[in-house]
Amino acid sequence: MGSANPTYLRTTNTHCSYCARETREKVRADRMIRHLPENKVFGGTLRIVECAECGLRYLNPMPDLRDLGQIYDYDVYEDSTNNNPVLMEHFYSSLKQHTRNLRTVLEIGCGTGEFLSFLESKGIEATGVEFADSAKRVKFKGKLLIGRMEDIDIPDASFDGVLLLNVIEHLSDPLSVLVKIRKMLAPGGTLLLRQPNSDMFFNKLYRPMVEFPKYLVHRALHARNKKTGFTVLGFQNQHLYYFNRRSVTQLLKRAGFEVAAYGTVDPYNRKRMVKSLKTGNLIEGGVATIRHVLGYVGLGPESLTVATVPAPAGEAVPRPPSDRAPAHAQMS
Ligand SMILES: [Zn+2]
Repeated sequence: MGSANPTYLRTTNTHCSYCARETREKVRADRMIRHLPENKVFGGTLRIVECAECGLRYLNPMPDLRDLGQIYDYDVYEDSTNNNPVLMEHFYSSLKQHTRNLRTVLEIGCGTGEFLSFLESKGIEATGVEFADSAKRVKFKGKLLIGRMEDIDIPDASFDGVLLLNVIEHLSDPLSVLVKIRKMLAPGGTLLLRQPNSDMFFNKLYRPMVEFPKYLVHRALHARNKKTGFTVLGFQNQHLYYFNRRSVTQLLKRAGFEVAAYGTVDPYNRKRMVKSLKTGNLIEGGVATIRHVLGYVGLGPESLTVATVPAPAGEAVPRPPSDRAPAHAQMS
């Protein structure tokens, strides 16, 4: 393992966190990701495997938690998701549509906090969670909880909505965090979950037709010491899990959620498609159209899941009036 060589970051052997025991694993990506620079820092040992019993895909070995902080570069981290106006409107309307009474929202991994400001402009009481190392980037002036989600103490049933946007794939134990979110949501509350869609990257046609050529280009450029701006099979060393429809759905159900909606159509891509085709940019328009169509058959690059906490039928559920999380809980 990496720990044998002091120049490599450490890795740790793991097993399926959904089955919670050793299971038979199928290796889904090894040779195609071994030579990527992000894998080199771990001695090229990271592989994407799939549990033969439940289908969960994850890195095994995984980057060791003790070294994980070293692969995050908080200063260059850009929030392309969370400050895109089209996506913010889409996420907000999804929350509004599925939540019984949307008054309070928690965004876990709030980045610069632009979505929180957006929610406040809609009259929502917004709270953010961010790591201590990256909290200085938060421009939002409202409530902010600092620390790892696993360590922060939040009262039960204290939020109507929770946003987990491109975060869950980074967590070492996603199920325990989902269970925690389930508890902090009020009955009738909603979780919005977004992450890369591994059904696309590992698709029987997409993999040989798109990902394999990308791998060849990557190897050729790498041999000339040149970098590429794309990933192969969605691999990133900070992405510990590679979710698809099946694995995300069963994880949410295990955590006590009902899955109200799942989709891979990207509303921002739809807008780009319409704009490009109108202005005669046929190449960009064509790419966006293909992506749009793929989104409809579950093969878009990102998936969005709406998970709800069932509310008892009939009367409104009594809740503590202002029993909210503290404004600045300092933890790390
Ligand atoms: Zn499993």
